[in-house]
Amino acid sequence: MAKLVVVSNRVSLPSRSGSRAGGLEVALRAVFRDHPGIWFGWSGRVVPHQSIETRTIAANNQQFVVTDLTEEDHSEYYNGFANRVLWPILHYRLDLAEYTLRDLTGYLRVNEHFADELHKVLAPDDLVWVHDYHLIPLAKALRDRGHQNKIGFFLHTPLPPMEILTAIPNHERLFPTLCHYDLVGFQTETDGTNFARYLICECKLPSRDLQTFLANGRSVQLGVFPVGVAVDEIIQWAERGAESSLVRRVVNSLSGRAMLIGVDRLDYSKGIVARLESFERFLLEKPDWQGRITFLQIAPRSRFKIREYAEIEAMVSATAGRINGRFGQPDWTPIRYVNQSHSRRTLAGLYRCARAGLVTPLRDGMNLVAKEYVAAQNPDDPGVLILSRFAGAARECTGALLVNPYDTDTAAEAIAHALTMSQAERRDRYQATIRNLRLNDIADWGKKFLTQLCDTNAELSLFSRLPVTAAPPGRPAEDARSAAFPDDGRSAGTRARRYSAS
Ligand code: UDP
Repeated sequence: MAKLVVVSNRVSLPSRSGSRAGGLEVALRAVFRDHPGIWFGWSGRVVPHQSIETRTIAANNQQFVVTDLTEEDHSEYYNGFANRVLWPILHYRLDLAEYTLRDLTGYLRVNEHFADELHKVLAPDDLVWVHDYHLIPLAKALRDRGHQNKIGFFLHTPLPPMEILTAIPNHERLFPTLCHYDLVGFQTETDGTNFARYLICECKLPSRDLQTFLANGRSVQLGVFPVGVAVDEIIQWAERGAESSLVRRVVNSLSGRAMLIGVDRLDYSKGIVARLESFERFLLEKPDWQGRITFLQIAPRSRFKIREYAEIEAMVSATAGRINGRFGQPDWTPIRYVNQSHSRRTLAGLYRCARAGLVTPLRDGMNLVAKEYVAAQNPDDPGVLILSRFAGAARECTGALLVNPYDTDTAAEAIAHALTMSQAERRDRYQATIRNLRLNDIADWGKKFLTQLCDTNAELSLFSRLPVTAAPPGRPAEDARSAAFPDDGRSAGTRARRYSAS
């Protein structure tokens, strides 16, 4: 197999501690276990312009090539366009986007810098796999430098409908550049279909089968590759972790009370405030649970230099404090709120001891915590996953209690349901989900994407032999949607038992 070159904004260097939070790093570490190669990205260092360096580090049968950013790059590309425009908009939060042309320019400049540095290390037959919203235009920058390699892109976040995407000023300079990749992967059918609609209706691109599009004299394929988790590894961690001293200390400190758990980066997309309010509602509606339950919310701080993140941190603290003040007693604190991050081994042990996992993002590409929570359960006496219907994971976690995270009354009822659910129903629900998680674990994700990338053929001759559908200008969006990805994510809602007030 050709050498694999993975490119992402952040690189998980072997020297960094194991207790980092972030689904992308977790997933890519697993890919490299099966396909050693080069991991290219930002070093994490911000330096003056004249001190920028690109370094190669060799470790564990793998090479890491990392490059520095200037203060200006970091502010415009990372804190600016990537995290103040793309992140909120990709999570359907137009209201939080703060666009400036200067940030977009910085974003494009850093992508050009990445391409310059990659140009020095790329061999003609290397397979290139680019990750996430920071690097959308990277394939175009590489093609401009003459690279004909197979280049794939995977978006870890959601991709909203074109009505939201087109609100980004200059979106037409950005999203169409995805067509310079050979394969563009999404977490769910809904995301893939949203992009297909954008290409059809906004870019007026001809399509072979609504998953293969013709652009820039070559073809690009769209595909759906939901990120999985390492099920067997998590089972082992959970079994051992439940016996670890920290987990034992936590369990002992509960004095026999039931535990609910939530684990999220401290991000407004994760719905932590609404979740705390759902818990408050539950305590109000079911007062007999007061004093008998503890909600452990672990929320490592993230991107704290961005105003919205400082604001959400203040809101979460204030909400947790208010609820603790309202219901707490001298010998009972309803919510334990912790900003420290923990290793995934420790988390697995904690998940196993929790009667329910609350994973209620307002919008999430996948949400690995949801899958990890289920994988960590004791099959004989499992806890219950309460999951937002707006997480990509809702499609595979068919045994979860699906909730609308904005609806705190219903989420409160789901908590009560989870805590009183019979063991037989909990086992059924666990089995339904774990079966799906085993069918698509983390190793399958990398293998499926890379296999499809190897099989892509951007040659026009192939394209021209097949019937091509030009999208009529007024093509109804729903037609495009169902035709492109017939097994749409919406069916997850039907298959999974969605929780609703009866
Ligand atoms: N995580 C961790 N330590 C923590 C909190 C989270 O290792 O203290 C891990 C978690 O187990 C999961 C990842 O970080 O594998 C978070 O991924 P997810 O898809 O849930 O959310 P993201 O942070 O990527 O939006």
